[in-house]
Amino acid sequence: MDEEKYQDDFRTYKERSCFHYNQRPILKVYVLLGVSFLLIGIYYVVVLSQVATLSTDLSQMDFQFPNQSSDLDLLLFPCGPENREWEYFNGKCYHFSLEKTSWMQAKTQCQGRHSHLVVINNMAEQNFLQTRTRNERYWMGLTDLELEGHWRWVDGSDYRNSFTYWGVGEPNNDNYRTSEDCAHLWGNGAWNDVYCTYLCFYICEKPLPHPRPAN
Ligand code: CA
Ligand code: CA
Repeated sequence: MDEEKYQDDFRTYKERSCFHYNQRPILKVYVLLGVSFLLIGIYYVVVLSQVATLSTDLSQMDFQFPNQSSDLDLLLFPCGPENREWEYFNGKCYHFSLEKTSWMQAKTQCQGRHSHLVVINNMAEQNFLQTRTRNERYWMGLTDLELEGHWRWVDGSDYRNSFTYWGVGEPNNDNYRTSEDCAHLWGNGAWNDVYCTYLCFYICEKPLPHPRPAN
């Protein structure tokens, strides 16, 4: 009888020991998982609070992006970002047409662009233009329509005492059908008079729209 009781007690002790022995690791895993979830939760709360703070700071900052963008535009497009088809040279802006037209129509087109047909004042400007217009013909703002032989610039500049770059033998007013009263740049850059209904490209000119203050 005692032997049987002893064996029962020993079996009970062994089962309890096995229970504790098997359950402890599981409890540790649960505890570690709980701590991990807690830490992750705290981490997200901290991150979210920092994001909220950063958003508030950004919304309150006074960014200067528009002005910086404007300065960059003026650097890339001296004639103004709204005039990107205009080219800058020596304080002036030039538009080289993409279509051919008569001299009068070209004059009107330039006026519509708040400019005038190009007036060439010196060799530097001549060099810039003839480099840009190589192998094509472009109207300039010079005509003797009002009185044959009396050439006048469209902006009123004094012609008689100003720079000229006529081709050899030009102006010759030489056309068997009509007179030649409008001037254009030939493909080599030299000037030539031709009848005003001739169709060629044209060059408009205007002052720099946003002159920079002197240093
Ligand atoms: Ca003429
Ligand atoms: Ca001619």
